[in-house]
Amino acid sequence: MEGSAARELASLGAIPYIGRFAPSPTGPLHAGSLVAALVSWLDARVHAGQWLVRIEDVDTARCVAGTERTILQQLQDCSLHADAPPLWQSARSAHYQQALDQLIAQGLAYPCHCSRRDIENAMLHNGQAPTRHADLIYPGTCRPTGPNHSDRLAAQGPQVWRLRTDLPDSGRVIHWHDRRLGPQQQDVATAVGDFVLQRADRCFSYQLAVVVDDAAQGISDVVRGEDLVDNTARQILLQRALGLPMPRYLHTPLLLGPNGEKLSKQNGAQALDTSDPLAALNQAAAVLGLPEQTGSVAQALQTWIANWVSISALFRH
Ligand code: GLU
Repeated sequence: MEGSAARELASLGAIPYIGRFAPSPTGPLHAGSLVAALVSWLDARVHAGQWLVRIEDVDTARCVAGTERTILQQLQDCSLHADAPPLWQSARSAHYQQALDQLIAQGLAYPCHCSRRDIENAMLHNGQAPTRHADLIYPGTCRPTGPNHSDRLAAQGPQVWRLRTDLPDSGRVIHWHDRRLGPQQQDVATAVGDFVLQRADRCFSYQLAVVVDDAAQGISDVVRGEDLVDNTARQILLQRALGLPMPRYLHTPLLLGPNGEKLSKQNGAQALDTSDPLAALNQAAAVLGLPEQTGSVAQALQTWIANWVSISALFRH
């Protein structure tokens, strides 16, 4: 084993390794989702850790009934077995509410009544073009301005709750280290703005749910696709605000479609075909530079576990 890989294993050994795969049941797994599942599974196995599956069905409007069963079956077909029964976010609202209440009590969360149009107008008024993919950088229109501000706004009916990102002790620029991508940073206040914790339809946001659940499940290592890297600073900000531990992060390479675009449910990626699980796993493994396997799925996974130590050593900056 290379020296750096051995050092990493030794340092990771200080905290029990608990990893997770956290699919949203908005559609079955596609070939790209299997890359994240395989890396997080391999990383957990290499570190003699646990691997958990969490069904992120917090956004009920986007979830497709029955998809979670398909996802669990797809993982099963690929012999990516979890070490505990899955956790369903839809059963955890009370925990998200508790976290939101804590943030409100700390003066860090506030209610907002701005519509998308209001936000666009405020941005244009400030000379900002509404870019940042489809997301708007919230200009802080409803930020608390005085005593009882939240109480007054809360009395106005349906609203979203946002996290204040502008306070000096929010940390402003979040610096963190990705095990593959190296040093990362984001000024959340300017890059994203005060982001949503709970929507007007009472659904809690992905950011809040993920942070609460990663802590509740004792996740030491978040391993997920690189398309999610932009969320990490927001999640670290929330961890700090809630006094929760920060896991290590590893964002995996993405499987690209023939047009060079990342595969996603949004751009119509086909459901992962697990009728030949080894073929599905080989495709995911190729993205990671792991050698193609021809034997059984169990042998392939064992070989990749053996290879993973040196592959993951190449990732680190
Ligand atoms: N549920 C998210 C998704 O399917 C992944 C969340 C995460 O791994 O943090 O894109």
